[in-house]
Amino acid sequence: MKIGILTIGNELMNGRTADTNASFIAREINLQSWQVEAIMSVGDDFASIKNRLDYLMSLTDAVICSGGLGPTADDITTAAIAQAFGLPLYTDENVLTYIKDIFTKFNLRWVENNAKQAMFPQGAEVIPNSRGTAPGFSLSVEGKLIFVIPGVPAEAKLMITHGVIPALRKQFPQNEQHAAKQTIKTFGLSEAAVDDRLKDIDFKSLGVNIGFYPVFPENHIVLISRSKTQDQAQINLQKAQDKVSARVQDYIFSYGEKTLEEVIAALLTEKKLTIAVAESCTGGLITNRLTDVSGSSDYLERGLVTYSNAAKISMLGVPADIIEKQGAVSEETARLMAEGVRKLAGTDLGISSTGIAGPTGGSKEKPVGTVYIALADSKQTICRHYAYRWDRKRNKDMFSEAALFLLKNYLQGKINDTR
Ligand code: ATP
Ligand code: MG
Repeated sequence: MKIGILTIGNELMNGRTADTNASFIAREINLQSWQVEAIMSVGDDFASIKNRLDYLMSLTDAVICSGGLGPTADDITTAAIAQAFGLPLYTDENVLTYIKDIFTKFNLRWVENNAKQAMFPQGAEVIPNSRGTAPGFSLSVEGKLIFVIPGVPAEAKLMITHGVIPALRKQFPQNEQHAAKQTIKTFGLSEAAVDDRLKDIDFKSLGVNIGFYPVFPENHIVLISRSKTQDQAQINLQKAQDKVSARVQDYIFSYGEKTLEEVIAALLTEKKLTIAVAESCTGGLITNRLTDVSGSSDYLERGLVTYSNAAKISMLGVPADIIEKQGAVSEETARLMAEGVRKLAGTDLGISSTGIAGPTGGSKEKPVGTVYIALADSKQTICRHYAYRWDRKRNKDMFSEAALFLLKNYLQGKINDTR
């Protein structure tokens, strides 16, 4: 089956928005073993939308459109599609009630423009949107299928996986009907490195498709297995998963949808351990991420942002002469920060970060991207040094991820340092 993708919005035309929806949709289509025949983008304009849609429909069995479903005057996708095929618009009363309820629930003032989001071309089937107000729709015209979903990436993703893909599978049933899916989340290898390690695995003979999803700074691998029976799909999936695991074992932190923070939450809870955080270069990011999990107060005692030397000295008890001699960004300082916060908080564990996020502040010995992460328990303190090469924001993301990954490895008993 051939699919066309049409992303709609003036913000795509003037370069203010990067078209991440197109690449997400393309990856999902490929995971289903369908072919993406063409990807196009177009501004919010009646004639242009009709023109691109006509062209894509001439090439494909189905076209997936995203964007332009908002309540404002420049969002015209629904009207443009209706006009293109000479279909009148109708208001879906259920959807209208649903949208009005959202406004009431969140105490928002109702503006009549919003009723536009409950309007659909005649013959359309509504695709629900549990994340936002604008539902999508599908339409069968001229023997082809058209899907229309909102531009907001989080909503688009949800509706692709839960609305569009299942509808397409129903319309175009495949021989290998039964599917099983597994996500394997990794950190510490680049996308190219993951690809390189897996490239000679014969997924095809197992009926398994592999997809790569870089979610900075992580790389997620998605396996989809298809077979005539659910049991066989599951067996083949397991075989593929075992092969992948063997190649990237040390970098995996999750099988399934769990985040790194959630994996850590489960481990800390299971081991009944508490933790405190002392952060310098990550500015609270590690603590912030730990608190992303509901119930984190069970194990997180406190997080301190000790950014200045004075804070490291007065709050964590790092001796001034250590900072002077070794530097604030050093293994010794990191160790003493972790030990200091652990003692201060009276927790089982203390974790710390000190580094240089950049773009200024680097030196030859300690370039931008240098970070020391230390983790202290009652018996030992372990410390790791990493060197990254990103911009400030990404370096901080990397640092916090490295800290959490180290913590995960420690909790899984994968660290054998003695010092
Ligand atoms: P809404 O109902 O929220 O207004 P919409 O369907 O009208 O949704 P748009 O107004 O087109 O969506 O875009 C909403 C947001 O989604 C904007 O921030 C825009 O930058 C982003 N967006 C739109 N299209 C894409 C795309 N193809 N890829 C990534 N982001 C996009
Ligand atoms: Mg728009």
